[in-house]
Amino acid sequence: MKNKISVVKPNSIAMELGIENGDRLVSVNGNEVKDIIDYKFLMTDEYLEIEIEKQNGELWSLEIEKDYDEDFGVEFETAIMDKARSCSNKCIFCFIDQLPKGMRKSLYFKDDDSRLSFLQGNFVTLTNMNDDDIDRIIKYRISPINVSVHTTNPELRKKILNNRFAGNVYERLERLAEAGTKINAQIVTVPGINNGDELIKTVEDLYKLYPGIENVAAVPVGITKYREGLSEICGFNKITAKEELINIKALQDKYIKEIGRPFIRLSDEFYVLAEEELPEKEFYGDFHQLEDGVGMIRILRENIKNSLELLDLKISGELCFITGDSAYKEIRETANIIMNRNDKIQIKVLEVINHFFGETITVAGLLTGKDIINSLKLNKIKGNIIIPRNMLRAEDTVFLDDITVEDIEKTAQGRVIIVDYTGEDLIDKINHALKEE
Ligand code: SF4
Repeated sequence: MKNKISVVKPNSIAMELGIENGDRLVSVNGNEVKDIIDYKFLMTDEYLEIEIEKQNGELWSLEIEKDYDEDFGVEFETAIMDKARSCSNKCIFCFIDQLPKGMRKSLYFKDDDSRLSFLQGNFVTLTNMNDDDIDRIIKYRISPINVSVHTTNPELRKKILNNRFAGNVYERLERLAEAGTKINAQIVTVPGINNGDELIKTVEDLYKLYPGIENVAAVPVGITKYREGLSEICGFNKITAKEELINIKALQDKYIKEIGRPFIRLSDEFYVLAEEELPEKEFYGDFHQLEDGVGMIRILRENIKNSLELLDLKISGELCFITGDSAYKEIRETANIIMNRNDKIQIKVLEVINHFFGETITVAGLLTGKDIINSLKLNKIKGNIIIPRNMLRAEDTVFLDDITVEDIEKTAQGRVIIVDYTGEDLIDKINHALKEE
């Protein structure tokens, strides 16, 4: 049912008015509420006339006076109060097209919905939006939005997204930026397609829209072993990743001089592939491109350094950190730092190779439970296992292949400890795990 209320928060205005789970929001100040964007915008008024349909079909008209930013206190059955829009592209690098068959149905859904961009930070291509949608973003001052640009070259963008309507991204970005919408841009970079000079040109174009476009993140394409029937593309290697770092460094230096920040940042994977040292912490500003894998290693290093004094020096015991190839060196270094501080703690770091998607997928977040179990068995590892939260889906209990945390615990005959790798969290979880032994 559209606009069905699923949560009424305790002590909220909604609760005081007698609104219950299962009721339906019909209108606000006489306006139909199409989705969460309408809702958020309409609810900012200080005087509201709200129409609610009770579960027995009764219609209630309620008048409310509230502060501008006071929460009404309800949540809806679906976060965007509408069906999520699926994408109208067929990108040459789409990860969903590279998934094996037989995985959870929800993993195959290709969303490309600006409302999810606003609510959850998802990236959108702007291709399935019409001019009215763009007007609504501007009118409702939805900001920031995260846009997958990939290239500003219209013909190339149509080719990359396999969508003949995908070429006008720059005009749309220009309109949004001029209207004051803040935009974070993302570029999935494919060697021989949109890297090198094409990437430089794209970044230079986007820079013309600064400060509307606040930041750009470039990430290397991820290639799984399931590409049968898809375009032939390749991933980066040490040499090509290094070339990209050099190219982009010239732009970053120029932008730092002009605006005091690099504007374009490359994800950590580029540095790992090129075996190059990461930039210093100042380079990453407030680390808000972590979702793109930009600055994760640097922030971990900094946070471990800052949290180390919280490590309990009286505890002792053994742990095993699980990670992928890409972060292995860094996690091993982290383990060494912790063991140097307290030599009664023994930490093994298990580098798990991604056989599920193929060895070219090296990030920890895409490891599956089965690969972890096989690796634990092969290396005869038992005891407490530390895994990063980003390996898990569905309320922190299930891996991408539906193997559960419990399955890992059975194999390891120990406990799985889920960490955020924020530094403080890691040290805190180690303190607790080993204290309880
Ligand atoms: S926009 Fe492209 S990459 Fe994203 S889901 Fe659609 S086809 Fe896949």
